Amino acid sequence: MSVDSLPIEGSCRCERVRFSVSAAPVITMACHCTGCQKMSSSAFSLSALIPASGFTVTQGCPVIGGMQAVDRHYFCPHCMSWLFTRPHGIDEFVNVRAALLDNASGYVPFMETWTREKLPWASTPAVESFAQLPEPQEFPRLMQAYAEFSRSTPASQ
Ligand SMILES: [Zn+2]
Ligand SMILES: [Zn+2]
Repeated sequence: MSVDSLPIEGSCRCERVRFSVSAAPVITMACHCTGCQKMSSSAFSLSALIPASGFTVTQGCPVIGGMQAVDRHYFCPHCMSWLFTRPHGIDEFVNVRAALLDNASGYVPFMETWTREKLPWASTPAVESFAQLPEPQEFPRLMQAYAEFSRSTPASQ
């Protein structure tokens, strides 16, 4: 995923909500937790952690859904696609559902989380794997490793 390909746009299923990403992700992830399995109706969720200043909703008005607890999960009010998450207590980043990007192919998951809840057959190409979540102090190392990984893996078109 190269910065040249920014900004990149994305949308929900019905395209009533569109968004623009103008900053490179600090990390890309697949989450196998049962909550993500339910919300994505699939084996795992895919996300790209984007600096909040580089994320803009350009069309439509997302609404909060999911468990409606401390993490704010935003959905399209019409087609109900899960769009992005503003994690509790972290205002600097938005966790964008990478599969909604118009060209998601370069957003390979670098890290996978909650493998202890994963479906037995589910696998991803992630190079860092965690039974639950990494400890907060591991994030600087992970972000650095992702930066090197994304430089060595040019965006596929
Ligand atoms: Zn929609
Ligand atoms: Zn999850």
